[in-house]
Amino acid sequence: MKEPVRVAVTGPAGNIGYAILFRIASGAMFGPDQPVHLSLLERPNPRSSAALKGVMMELADCAFPLLKSMRAEQDPREAFRDADYALLIGARPRGPGMERADLLEANAAIFREQGRALNETASRNVKVIVVGNPCNTNAWIAMKNAPDLAPECFSAMLRLDQNRAMAMLAEKTRTDVTDIRHMAVWGNHSPSMAPDIWNATVKGEPADNFVTDQWIREEFIPTVGKRGSAIIAARGASSAASAASAAVDHMHDWALGADDWVTMGVPSDGSYGVPEGMIFGFPCIAKGDGTYEIVKGLTLNEEQQARIAKNIADLEEEMAAVKAFVPD
Ligand code: NDP
Repeated sequence: MKEPVRVAVTGPAGNIGYAILFRIASGAMFGPDQPVHLSLLERPNPRSSAALKGVMMELADCAFPLLKSMRAEQDPREAFRDADYALLIGARPRGPGMERADLLEANAAIFREQGRALNETASRNVKVIVVGNPCNTNAWIAMKNAPDLAPECFSAMLRLDQNRAMAMLAEKTRTDVTDIRHMAVWGNHSPSMAPDIWNATVKGEPADNFVTDQWIREEFIPTVGKRGSAIIAARGASSAASAASAAVDHMHDWALGADDWVTMGVPSDGSYGVPEGMIFGFPCIAKGDGTYEIVKGLTLNEEQQARIAKNIADLEEEMAAVKAFVPD
């Protein structure tokens, strides 16, 4: 059995929190031989506190052999103390009549505080995934407010978009998801994201040999981009179990490696014309030692380049709107 790792989770009393904590504690995220200590950032309001208490009672009742301890903390510096992994799930949802700029600012304040707290108390090798939306920009704010941590400690979740794209292509081609490889989703976790079928394969052959251009443009790309809204319309609530599952995949592969590309929102190194430091969805290779590399040298057709340019412009706009929340 390995030494236990410390895992901090924000938004633990929310919908994704409820779906993910049991999978972290069961070993699905870090493996069946990896014990964990859980540290849960509690919101200082009676509804959240009571809900979290109930979740912790249920976690205890599972008697997970790998769950070595759990605690609730109200101060992010305490919640993140010595954290090896931090899952930033809690975020401010858009309320009635709230403008987009207000939403960006409300979240910027949360992620500035959490970035500072991570900088102060987390392990110097902490691996952070930001799930709370707008996740690319929130991750950027946290990263910029943690100057003593390497930028590579920070990531945003686009894995749900990759998983959705793989499932849709497998269904269309009547194959299994395990037959689909090299599926990537570039850019911002927003409806304008750029799912990339042109570099993907089905049973080892180029994926675009199996489908028409019309299906790619009119069905595949828009459906993947709008899947989140379709789930809200069907379920009356946003994706929770699938989002939790994607976060499990993201952290599992980052920590332990994967034999296929994984889409991660990571700080750009300037590849593919994406401005350096922007948190952008790229196909990555998770090497198995806790590090990753952006896949280099891919050919992008004109259409895909235009979509990537649109994602860069959207993110530049979001970053400009929250400039006051990052140090110069
Ligand atoms: P919920 O509203 O169910 O839960 C969010 C939880 O976060 C609530 O318990 C809330 O507490 C808490 N919270 C709010 N602000 C903070 C804070 N500053 N610190 C700690 N906790 C806080 O939302 P979900 O769990 O369904 O979704 C969480 C986020 O994930 C949302 O932003 C959602 O848009 C995003 N998401 C991202 C996806 C992706 O692919 N990247 C996919 C799906 C969802 P309280 O109730 O007290 O306010």
